[in-house]
Amino acid sequence: KAKGVATALSALYPADYEARLDESPDRDTYRGKLDALRQKTPTDAKAQSHTSSPLVFLTEGGATSYLGGCDDTVAWARARLSPSTTENGSNGICNQNDGFTKDHGFDYDVVVIGGGSGGLACSKEMAKLGAKVAVLDYVKPSPQGTKWGLGGTCVNVGCIPKKLMHTAAILGEAMRDDAAAFGWASPDVKHNWAAMRERVQNHIKSLNFQYRVALREAGISYLNKLGEFAGPNTLKVTDKKGKVTQITSARFVVAVGGRPNRLDIPGGEHAIDSDDIFSLEKAPGRVLCIGAGYIALECGGFVNGLGSSTTAMVRSILLRGFDRECVDKIQTHLVAHGVKLQIGVTPTKIEKNGDVLTVHGSDGSVNEYDTVLVATGRKADTTGLGLDNVPGAAKDVAQNGKLKAVDEQLPHAPHVYAIGDVLDGRPELTPVAIEAGLRLARRLFGAGNERMDYENVATTVFTPLEYGAIGLSEDEATESLGAENVECYISEFTPLEHALSDARSARGDAAFAKLVCDKTQDLKVIGFHYLGPNAGEITQGFSVAMRKGATYGDFLGTVGIHPTVAEEFTTLTVTKASGASAAKGGC
Ligand code: FAD
Ligand code: NDP
Repeated sequence: KAKGVATALSALYPADYEARLDESPDRDTYRGKLDALRQKTPTDAKAQSHTSSPLVFLTEGGATSYLGGCDDTVAWARARLSPSTTENGSNGICNQNDGFTKDHGFDYDVVVIGGGSGGLACSKEMAKLGAKVAVLDYVKPSPQGTKWGLGGTCVNVGCIPKKLMHTAAILGEAMRDDAAAFGWASPDVKHNWAAMRERVQNHIKSLNFQYRVALREAGISYLNKLGEFAGPNTLKVTDKKGKVTQITSARFVVAVGGRPNRLDIPGGEHAIDSDDIFSLEKAPGRVLCIGAGYIALECGGFVNGLGSSTTAMVRSILLRGFDRECVDKIQTHLVAHGVKLQIGVTPTKIEKNGDVLTVHGSDGSVNEYDTVLVATGRKADTTGLGLDNVPGAAKDVAQNGKLKAVDEQLPHAPHVYAIGDVLDGRPELTPVAIEAGLRLARRLFGAGNERMDYENVATTVFTPLEYGAIGLSEDEATESLGAENVECYISEFTPLEHALSDARSARGDAAFAKLVCDKTQDLKVIGFHYLGPNAGEITQGFSVAMRKGATYGDFLGTVGIHPTVAEEFTTLTVTKASGASAAKGGC
């Protein structure tokens, strides 16, 4: 923190302050240097008795004085950077509850650009802490013309409709594959896309409404307008009729999220993306999903489950970055459920003849579809944000358009903050955006001190065989620790609720549990992987244990809940290295 303060000061006032980080190779050298500094302040008793780090000295005009520890340094810096002593009210220190809500002369204490997961959470928390807040949220229609309401990607075209449609597909599977085994007369299951779509979209509209009410109740100004910086403290805001006005603010939080990448091939404009799929008027028919990340496989999984003949066109591998052993099982499961895979293929051209789309692949393949869904990653929505009009901010824009922030603050434009999908190198997940927004709000306007911790964030891929993961894959662990220092415990088993189904057993459906452990740290669990029903629910709880540094022994020493799939993690005994079968029978 002290280093952050010093860096911020020297970035803001290079003529007055210089931050120097002096690193010592070992403890003795460090102590020697501290003693030398202490000798420069022989009469300062506090400096002589101060033993913890950091120990901060200030050199001014050749004289050295003792400043104190971290808190003293932050207080010292705050006093120098309070709004009354700075030109535009911007303050270089992220952690500050410094009366920034007073007398700065701007319309707002803070304007949040983007009313999605991160922006809404952050703005409500800041308002609760007494700040005068405005939120801008404006949706640019997708190239196919799809629009939606307040709440951002997650609520309108992301997690919520995705999970609901995934649930629709899982329900169908249960009716087809399990119901008869449990004594239900064989149901003649037919899916009605239009009925599902209507209920899903109505649910989304009710959430849009609830968000508007919540902003009003929190005393936040909600502007359904597109924001663009016109100066360091000024935003040009444009409403849907094209009317332009301006608002000013002491600070800004950029929470503009991202939008799907476009398909840059001839005929690419005929493809839809995740902004469109959830509001299609009718069932998508024969579907090609291009991409093999979360979105392509989740959407491919549910449209296949709802009755569409589905193909996934995969450039390289499925689910890059995840545990290979688990991904291979997802791949086998998708194929067993009828999804066709074109691996090592990219599209080269799409032709549209009436309602039929003919897709040419790099392998020479030519196939006809009714719907082509492109899901090849997302791009930060910073184009047109006018960051060039904020001195320094352009330096904090990465090549991919995302923002490079330190503790959610732009180093070269310290009154501008960023959270959520717009951040470079951070997971694009709703709870990450929310948590970063809450912590930032508490640091800016409350007594909070906590930085966002982006490590060990749990995630779940809602493929038909759901996949929950935390921490490292086996490959990542082996690469960073060496194979000799990694132990993997595995088990493959049939969830009890699937045990009666002939269809599932004929297909070989199974759940899978895997713990990746660090042998050098008492078998600390550094990777958690689960394939099977309710993966999100199960993985969430274990992420608490992993945050607390749980070891394999802690897992094994925990009494399970029987009969569940989660209890499998308390009974894992087969190591991968043993070569013994991970297949489990019996109770
Ligand atoms: P967003 O939610 O994208 O919000 C940004 C808002 O800012 C948007 O409303 C946008 O229109 C608006 N905006 C942009 N520019 C401006 C401007 N200049 N002026 C005014 N407003 C502007 N995550 C999960 O954790 N679990 C899931 O299951 C999951 N499923 C997903 C499924 C899909 C299909 C997709 C696409 C994403 C999914 N995600 C999931 C990711 C999750 O939706 C995002 O990580 C999350 O929404 C990011 O929140 P955000 O606040 O950064 O941005
Ligand atoms: P991802 O980054 O997860 O995957 C992109 C996929 O597209 C990869 O398979 C990649 O292949 C492929 N690809 C990239 N460029 C091309 C190209 N030019 N031609 C063909 N294939 C290409 O992106 P998504 O769009 O799936 O999802 C974006 C983010 O949204 C995710 O990372 C996730 O954070 C979030 N999300 C979270 C969900 C959840 O929590 N359940 C659900 C959905 C989204 P390659 O491996 O070869 O690069």
